[in-house]
Amino acid sequence: MLRTTQLVLRPRVAVRRGAALATAALASARMVPVVRQLHVRREPIAPSITVRRASTVASPPTGLKPLPAKILIANRGEIACRIMRTCRRLGISTVAVFSEADAKAQHVRLADEAYCIGPAASAESYLRQDKILAVAQRTGATMIHPGYGFLSENAAFAALLEQSNVTFMGPPASAIDAMGSKSASKEIMLAAGVPCVPGYHGSNQDPTFLAQEAEKIGYPVLIKAVKGGGGKGMKIADTPAEFGDALESAQREAAKSFGDPTVLIEKYLTAPRHVEVQVFADKHGNAVYISERDCSVQRRHQKIIEEAPAPHLAEELRRELGEKAVAAAKAVGYVGAGTVEFILDAKRPENFYFMEMNTRLQVEHPVTEMVSGLDLVEWQLEVAAGNRLPLLQEELKIEGHAFEARIYAENTDANFLPDTGRLVHVALPSTSTLTHSNTALAPRSGGVVGSEGQAEAVVRVDTGFVSGDEISVHYDPMIAKLIVKGRDRTEALRIMANALNQYQVVGPSTNIQFLKNLVRHPKFIEGQVETGFIAKHGETGLFGDPYTSEVQLQEAVAQGAIWLYQRDAAAALRGGEAAEGKASIWTNPAFRPAQTRRFELQHKTLGPLRVSVTPVDDAFDVKVEAKQATEEFKGLRTTGVTTVEATRTGLTTFMPTGVVTSFSIVAPGWFAKISEAAAGPVGDALASPMPSKIVDCKVKAGQQVKKGETLVILEAMKTEIALKAPRDAVIKSISGKCKPGALVPEATTLVTFESE
Ligand code: ADP
Ligand code: ADP
Ligand code: MG
Repeated sequence: MLRTTQLVLRPRVAVRRGAALATAALASARMVPVVRQLHVRREPIAPSITVRRASTVASPPTGLKPLPAKILIANRGEIACRIMRTCRRLGISTVAVFSEADAKAQHVRLADEAYCIGPAASAESYLRQDKILAVAQRTGATMIHPGYGFLSENAAFAALLEQSNVTFMGPPASAIDAMGSKSASKEIMLAAGVPCVPGYHGSNQDPTFLAQEAEKIGYPVLIKAVKGGGGKGMKIADTPAEFGDALESAQREAAKSFGDPTVLIEKYLTAPRHVEVQVFADKHGNAVYISERDCSVQRRHQKIIEEAPAPHLAEELRRELGEKAVAAAKAVGYVGAGTVEFILDAKRPENFYFMEMNTRLQVEHPVTEMVSGLDLVEWQLEVAAGNRLPLLQEELKIEGHAFEARIYAENTDANFLPDTGRLVHVALPSTSTLTHSNTALAPRSGGVVGSEGQAEAVVRVDTGFVSGDEISVHYDPMIAKLIVKGRDRTEALRIMANALNQYQVVGPSTNIQFLKNLVRHPKFIEGQVETGFIAKHGETGLFGDPYTSEVQLQEAVAQGAIWLYQRDAAAALRGGEAAEGKASIWTNPAFRPAQTRRFELQHKTLGPLRVSVTPVDDAFDVKVEAKQATEEFKGLRTTGVTTVEATRTGLTTFMPTGVVTSFSIVAPGWFAKISEAAAGPVGDALASPMPSKIVDCKVKAGQQVKKGETLVILEAMKTEIALKAPRDAVIKSISGKCKPGALVPEATTLVTFESE
């Protein structure tokens, strides 16, 4: 654990600051803007710090500059909401911008003012620099917070603001430029003595030349868009034979997502860890590192769960990574929040390499806030206002252990493909802290910031969506972030598992069940993390629902049937045939309350079920007959059980134990026949797995294709998906919809094959 020596030196600053923040946190709950007393208190202490560590300090602060009165947030979703919460706590007014698709979004509701800046497509709204600057100027917002994604790492935008009277809440354009290219930044790092993954980072993009370079590096190699981010524009080539296709695909994704097809080639490490360092710098020459984060568990090179501190790292190595990260920031005259990402040899972590620097606030910054007790958005505001870093290296204290789990709308069983749709139902775990830090706990633990000494389950949810909101194809599929903190890693994992059990989402598929499995996986609990974690342990309990027994599933189905019973009973009492007068094919008009009621249900793993529900006093006896076995539940009560019905998912029942199950009501025979006929013939065809855009169709009718050959390339959520031939076949026809640029809904037939 990173325990720095300043324990002794620190109290005057940190306790007061903590106390002030605690008051602020309480006050913000009542939405009262808080005046910034903490700055006044901090001031006289600063000069003594200069004496303590001359190397990290430039000019001592001479009076603090005020924070802005109003800022514009050029983003959406959870990060926009999270930035606004800090602004509210500090009494700063907020201006939101939004696309037509987001008119009812949470960030629009949460802001003090909001302005529509264009259609759904990011290029016409959230990426419109001119419109965003115009809104800032018109509303008198003096700063723009770019969040992450969108314009956050856009040097041209930072430069545009540098020419205006509005401050960019990020590093200078020159630093974004220097670090914005994964290749140029590696040259800078090598010059600063930081090791990089061996590879070719130059400007020659000739395919034959690049293939030669790949040969020199040795396979497997990784092809990366130099301007890439979010795991996009990255392709692995295991063999020379795969290089050509991988290069083409990487370049295409790079051009489309980042406006630059330039790639670099580097050695692909097979079992590395991803460890990154949070750095912060001010305009006075101070720079610090605030703990590292391990983000190794990834799918499609994109993080799923992050933690701080990184498990199983020697204290010395932690410090070395921190110091290298600060050196990186200093090498480019960095200002503000940044992240320096390293890749480590999982077996020999002392072999580490610089990967890239993200010149913005990172998605996973909350884990750092949890273990440091700081609000990094507040720090960004301080730095942008021209003030010194609120604390310097010696004053930072890291304690406890934090995790962040990203809740994504995606189908974990279908290779984590993003999903979209309306959030029919969302229920969050009970949270103990609304924003950045653990200071809400201060009063309970006797005025001391943090969890030292006492068990405190800290649970925070950063979300930008509530029930009824839409997860749209146009933007990132991340719904929320669940952040927890405990005194140590084991405790934090337990808190996370418990919070995930309470997290309920109905609508698009989500990765919640996967996350539940992950935090209970023995290897994850041991901290045996690496980027290949899912590939390595996928077979041992990461997918499906391995921790729930058949009886538990049946009990959940029994509860779902009780819900159906009660719904029909309520409708019958109202004299109608179904709830809210919506008669359906499943309504039983003869049903009367207090009678036994039978349901024919279909469950994904249990198969067809016959369920009978009989009310007994204020409880229910339920019999669940499955093919294999019959289970009888006597005297079931419904306390703490939630059942939700949605068009796409049928019924979903959430048990207070965290067991979740979905099932559907079997339609009458005549109805099933009609629907089958409407759906048309299946088999021998390739369909779009989700709403997407056609990028390329590589085949023609009559063509012979080999199993595994790429036939159609789709793009959804800015990610390319290659649809491959399921077998050797002859193409029978290509759908008229299968043309580059066409938008197709889910399950659109694109290509058909001749029968075998
Ligand atoms: P990285 O994977 O580079 O370490 P993060 O995991 O912090 O970065 O994710 C940020 C990346 O994810 C962005 O660079 C962007 O590609 C994508 N992203 C996440 N959220 C958004 C958003 N709201 N808008 C656009 N892009 C986003
Ligand atoms: P992005 O900008 O998309 O975040 P990065 O360069 O940070 O791109 O890489 C994203 C992820 O890809 C890393 O976290 C790591 O899991 C994996 N990765 C990157 N470089 C390598 C490499 N050379 N070998 C193996 N895995 C890598
Ligand atoms: Mg990265």
